[in-house]
Amino acid sequence: MAKRVLITGAAGFLGSHLCDRFIKEGYIVVGMDNLITGSLKNIEHLFKLKEFEFYHHDVSKFVHVPGEIDYILHFASPASPIDYLKIPIQTLKVGSLGTHNLLGLAKAKNARMLIASTSEVYGDPTVHPQPEEYWGNVNPVGPRGVYDEAKRFQEAITMAYHTFHGLETRIVRIFNTYGPRMRLNDGRVLPAFIGQALRGEDLTAFGDGSQTRSFCYVDDLVEGIYRLLLSDYAQPVNIGNPDEITIKEFAEEILKLTGANQKIIFEPLPQDDPKQRRPDITKAREILGWEPKVSRAEGLKITFEYFKTLDDKELKPKEFNDFNKQ
Ligand code: UDP
Repeated sequence: MAKRVLITGAAGFLGSHLCDRFIKEGYIVVGMDNLITGSLKNIEHLFKLKEFEFYHHDVSKFVHVPGEIDYILHFASPASPIDYLKIPIQTLKVGSLGTHNLLGLAKAKNARMLIASTSEVYGDPTVHPQPEEYWGNVNPVGPRGVYDEAKRFQEAITMAYHTFHGLETRIVRIFNTYGPRMRLNDGRVLPAFIGQALRGEDLTAFGDGSQTRSFCYVDDLVEGIYRLLLSDYAQPVNIGNPDEITIKEFAEEILKLTGANQKIIFEPLPQDDPKQRRPDITKAREILGWEPKVSRAEGLKITFEYFKTLDDKELKPKEFNDFNKQ
């Protein structure tokens, strides 16, 4: 019998790619999303399949799903700094109350639960690159604290269910990921730069652009998550691409990719913006036999092709440009 997997945040960027992967692997997929940051457009191609069901539901409220469930993947959460500022309470609730509800469901159904944690648990890291043993440097009361602390609590309660209830759990710490279906106006650097390039605007690098990130293509991430779910390893595992780049260099790459001849302009750095970030993926390599396969050049090309297909209306929103001025 086909296994049944519940994916929360199913209409989001990562959730929708996970739905596709599990359908492809022969699972029955139950998607759940409250659609505050997700979009049905990302999963509309799945609605015609009998292997796909969808619940429009907010997981921070009691979650009921009839029938057996073998796996739960909790990917519901606002995931960009601009969203944490707009909906801080929902961000906290989905990571804390939502995780608690889903752990309860996993326990009742005897399901294995994988949670989407994040490199943000390392905050503005003082250890570089970041191994899973690093405890992090998070400001709990800063603007990013609502996301970072919700995710840290999420890891803690998940580990507690594992230890005290013997629940099968997995924790993936996801580093910056990109690819088709990112929201153009979600404020994150890649859609921001590509959107600006397509609209003929200058690219806004925050700070002096010397901060670094390491970008992983979505298919690589999904492969890592799939392997982790099916592994027997319950401790956190970093999944990300260690190919690190400064934001200024990244802006230059986007200008080259898009053929845009605009400038890079510099705007103030948002509070608590991590200065450097790069995953240590020794564990993923050793335990899961995983490493990223898609180079940034390849991944960016595919992603740019996706953004070019969006119509004018989707290209217009500019609210992310105001993020830094709040
Ligand atoms: N960033 C930028 N210009 C933008 C949007 C973001 O320079 O228009 C910077 C941001 O300050 C950060 C980096 O790009 O240093 C990555 O930001 P993002 O919001 O994508 O993710 P995170 O900070 O969570 O890694």
